[in-house]
Amino acid sequence: MNTLSSKRVLAQMFGEAAGYIRIHSEMLSKLDTVGGDGDHGATMTRVMEVVEQVIKLENSNDAREMLRHAGAAVLNVDGGASSAILGSFISGMSSVEIESELNTETLARVFSAGLHAVMRQTRAQVGDKTMMDALVPAVRAIEAAANSGMPVVRAMEMASDAARNGADSTEGMIAKYGRAKSLGERTRGSADPGATSIALLFRGFSAANVRA
Ligand code: ADP
Ligand code: MG
Repeated sequence: MNTLSSKRVLAQMFGEAAGYIRIHSEMLSKLDTVGGDGDHGATMTRVMEVVEQVIKLENSNDAREMLRHAGAAVLNVDGGASSAILGSFISGMSSVEIESELNTETLARVFSAGLHAVMRQTRAQVGDKTMMDALVPAVRAIEAAANSGMPVVRAMEMASDAARNGADSTEGMIAKYGRAKSLGERTRGSADPGATSIALLFRGFSAANVRA
């Protein structure tokens, strides 16, 4: 049985997620024209590019160092709300111990730390039509998978499904945060761009694990 190197698995997860974001960049920007300024796909593409760059240059076997550098690089991207939130998320992931061999408990701890960092950054809750609508259920799904002893690959599938459902649910919501806030009712009927990105990220994370 192969062991899962935390650094390698996390690098593959972010690499795969970058591909999903890149492919869907135009769609993400189009969603952002409804309540925002139409730049979300471009910002997310830039965010994932800097993450990929850090991963490529990181030659230690230290997952935590890699995430720390990636988070700092994303926080430096001049991209408004979404890059600040993703930068906090990735930096937050690097704030806990990461054993060199990855298991679902470790993964849950790392993702929970990321979510906590985001929660310190924004007051947005599930139901406010933001990234939180996908991020919170995705992280909760990984925690639940860890509590019931599921393997990493299953945990990430559950997280991907939860993020997708969360992102879909934003279609019926009114935006309470960000640029879209001022548009009120007019934001109903279209999914939140940030939540849609988070669903794509987790789809990439899951795909990387299925392939591993
Ligand atoms: P900007 O709005 O600065 O142009 P983006 O277009 O890249 O940034 O991202 C917009 C997304 O950011 C929204 O769809 C929403 O999901 C998320 N967002 C905006 N403001 C907040 C906030 N205060 N808390 C959580 N998420 C937010
Ligand atoms: Mg925007």
